Amino acid sequence: MARNANGLKVLVVEDSKVTIKVLGNYLRRMGIREPLIAESGADALEIYRRERPDLILLDAQLPDIDGFDVAQQIRAMEEHRDWTAIIFLTSKSKDEDLARGIEVGGDDYLMKPVSEVVLQAKVGAMQRLVEMQRKLVRVTHELDDANRELQRLSTTDGLTGIANRRMYDDLAQREWRRCERMKKPISLVLVDVDSFKLFNDNYGHQAGDECLKFVACQVAKIAQRPTDLAARYGGEEFVLVLGETDAHGANWLANRLRQQVAELNIPHYAAKFQHVTVSCGVASAMPDGSRSLNVLLKSADRALYRAKAAGRDQVVVCEYGKE
Ligand code: GH3
Ligand code: MG
Ligand code: MG
Ligand code: MG
Repeated sequence: MARNANGLKVLVVEDSKVTIKVLGNYLRRMGIREPLIAESGADALEIYRRERPDLILLDAQLPDIDGFDVAQQIRAMEEHRDWTAIIFLTSKSKDEDLARGIEVGGDDYLMKPVSEVVLQAKVGAMQRLVEMQRKLVRVTHELDDANRELQRLSTTDGLTGIANRRMYDDLAQREWRRCERMKKPISLVLVDVDSFKLFNDNYGHQAGDECLKFVACQVAKIAQRPTDLAARYGGEEFVLVLGETDAHGANWLANRLRQQVAELNIPHYAAKFQHVTVSCGVASAMPDGSRSLNVLLKSADRALYRAKAAGRDQVVVCEYGKE
């Protein structure tokens, strides 16, 4: 069944054919055509599952499952942010019955026989609530999207699109602790573009930006395991966090990265090799309570310094904590 012109999908749960006809007429006169019909509790649940109506007129006395139980089961099936308006129709007139109907999840409660005016007024009121609910869900979705975008923006680097320093701070610490629990080594690789100031001076800052994007792409490509992280550490420096990787493995990866950057063959005539190169500093450790990620980073920085001093376009490995 398509939604009605007024946007409401209605299910009538009622075992009396006469009442179904009467309710159908009332609804039609308020613009709700061809409501879904269930003549038993089991049918009602089946149709609810399939059609997810907006409003249910629910007879409290049904041949199989009690209407109150039907309401309870429907509430249990509603997923996150789902809400179906339920109006009980009943000939039970005691206050306790009304209270029970609301308690099991009904939104309103009408005594049979229902007058046309009252039914239409109640359905109209529920329709307003359904519309409010839809609006709320829409706004919540928009908020979710905005939050996701904010999260993405706050964790990625604007220029290169890879993880930023903040993400590094967050994930590296997490990976360090994970490796500590797993009793596995962890490695850091600091990557620094060689003579990059000269590159900017010769080709301009915009060309420098483009160059950083190409290098970032290679850095990201080398981080292949789900637990690897490639981030822009700042300026023309990048960092790789390699969990469950020892110095040997990290050295091998850093060298591959160094080679792949060289193979990009980005001209840099003012530099030693006439094309863009990177130097890498590698440090590894078995994390434990007496060690820290910070010291590991300092060791990688030390290694990078040595790679620069030794002539650039190379990888140097430093032991954890050694000067
Ligand atoms: P070394 O080989 O010793 O690393 O020399 P270097 O010139 O690369 O190092 P230095 O620290 O002297 O210069 C880094 C340069 O990187 C200077 C800075 O303007 C440039 N840089 C940093 N961030 C960016 C950026 O986002 N875009 C561009 N185009 N340049 C940047
Ligand atoms: Mg009945
Ligand atoms: Mg630098
Ligand atoms: Mg540099």
